[in-house]
Amino acid sequence: MKMRAAVLHHPAPVASHPLAIEDLPIPEPGPGEVLLKVEACGVCRTDLHITAGELPPLRSTVTPGHQIVGRVKKLGQGIDGPAAGARCGVSWLGGVDGTCLLCRKGRENLCDHPTYTGYSVNGGYAEYAVARADFLIPLPGEVAATDLAPLLCAGIIGFRSLRVAEVAPRARVGLFGFGASAHLAIEVLKFWNCEVYVSTRGASHQQLARDRGATWVGDATDRPPVALDCAVTFAPSGEVVLAALASLRKGGIVAINAIHLDRIPQFDYDSLLWGERQLRSVANMTRQDGRDFVALAAKIGIRPRTTVFRLEDVNDALLAIEEDAVDGAAVVVP
Ligand SMILES: [Zn+2]
Ligand SMILES: [Zn+2]
Repeated sequence: MKMRAAVLHHPAPVASHPLAIEDLPIPEPGPGEVLLKVEACGVCRTDLHITAGELPPLRSTVTPGHQIVGRVKKLGQGIDGPAAGARCGVSWLGGVDGTCLLCRKGRENLCDHPTYTGYSVNGGYAEYAVARADFLIPLPGEVAATDLAPLLCAGIIGFRSLRVAEVAPRARVGLFGFGASAHLAIEVLKFWNCEVYVSTRGASHQQLARDRGATWVGDATDRPPVALDCAVTFAPSGEVVLAALASLRKGGIVAINAIHLDRIPQFDYDSLLWGERQLRSVANMTRQDGRDFVALAAKIGIRPRTTVFRLEDVNDALLAIEEDAVDGAAVVVP
């Protein structure tokens, strides 16, 4: 039995169209794994880093895609659930060793031997995908798959960023950048009765922030009119990180949500970091982040703004993200 899948070869033959649509055998789930029929898969900026080789290739070929919404089709050995037909999500963290120091400390997002969906193992830009059963995220069955997919990376990472930034109810929170992740995080912030100050480039992103209830909206490095309790930066820019730092009150925290940052320019410690201001990075996610966020999103009724692409057009989706031409989140449907 064959399936359609988008495959990245190293090196990619055509830089502008890095993924090739191919017919591959439907994979068999190994012990502890499940086979999912993919209903939708979100497209993430990280996929650009993978297809461009900025994240070093781990295999000669890989199918990217790490925001998978699927239905259980088949169980591997050694597990007796979830039930056939159950809807599950697969996120970037596809597995951990469970034994390293950080896993044992409950920080599995920093595991020494992680499995990354769509990077170290094949992901969801395909009709079928295999995933570890113990890393599945239970999903509601009645919501559109395209509305759930963006929650699974953009949403979870955004949620983790709020945790890393130690957002408290009714806090004054800055969001620097307003794309796939931030437009979901703001829903959580509003649910927690926070004041949200958004600094982002582009009229469309600024409008989206207003539509989603931001208290104040400015340009990418604009400083909000009040001192912030904490901030999350989503833009891969060190200038933006400094703008966020400059917006904090004493004791405030900036969480950097970016796998790559161009570089942080030289900055003045006395005015920007003194006063127990903190600069933190956000790395990956834990299973608990995923399950907590999906449950909260269902409670709040979060619906992402999405642009849907066919699997055959996945290269167009990547290009649109690269050009910042997607409002909200891009989703591929096989
Ligand atoms: Zn991602
Ligand atoms: Zn580990």
